[in-house]
Amino acid sequence: MTPEDLKPLVRTIPDFPKPGILFRDVTTLMGHGEGFAAAVGMMADKVQACEGQAIAGIEARGFIFGAAIAAKLAMPFIPVRKPGKLPVPVLAIDYALEYGTDTLEVDPGAVVDGSRIVLIDDLLATGGTALAACELLRRAGGVVAEALFLVDLPDLGGAERLRRAGVAVEALLDYP
Ligand code: AMP
Repeated sequence: MTPEDLKPLVRTIPDFPKPGILFRDVTTLMGHGEGFAAAVGMMADKVQACEGQAIAGIEARGFIFGAAIAAKLAMPFIPVRKPGKLPVPVLAIDYALEYGTDTLEVDPGAVVDGSRIVLIDDLLATGGTALAACELLRRAGGVVAEALFLVDLPDLGGAERLRRAGVAVEALLDYP
């Protein structure tokens, strides 16, 4: 399978979660065994190409791809969580959303000082979430080797924003 073969497996839902948003629903790709395995395999190849040593996944869909990639490569998995979920003292970062703010948290004990971490999420839109996660991992002592996504929406400028912040970006599929 090639990345182009994966494209039809992603379902597009207009006006979700609100009017004007074209929601790219990757759960249909996850529901296709061969497609899911191919996506995880292609993303794992990119992790190896950038010499990643650990995988960080953003809650929640970044957990699904990130954990599968980490297990395939027998690499540590670092959960980047929504607030209040981790049972230990955490490092936290607040970041701006279109309306209001949100928070991500990580267990600093999960990050080995100086290790090369690949950040995984299902989709890159404006880049606000991924940028906050990268900053959090850096504060925890990690080196973000790359931010890797199944889907990039290049028109929303996330990849450009991440690259300006010194983060290498890769994605399997884009929807201009
Ligand atoms: P952003 O911080 O703007 O890059 O948004 C990224 C997060 O929002 C990811 O975790 C995505 O799962 C979700 N997201 C944003 N826009 C979309 C979209 N059009 N379709 C599906 N998920 C989206």
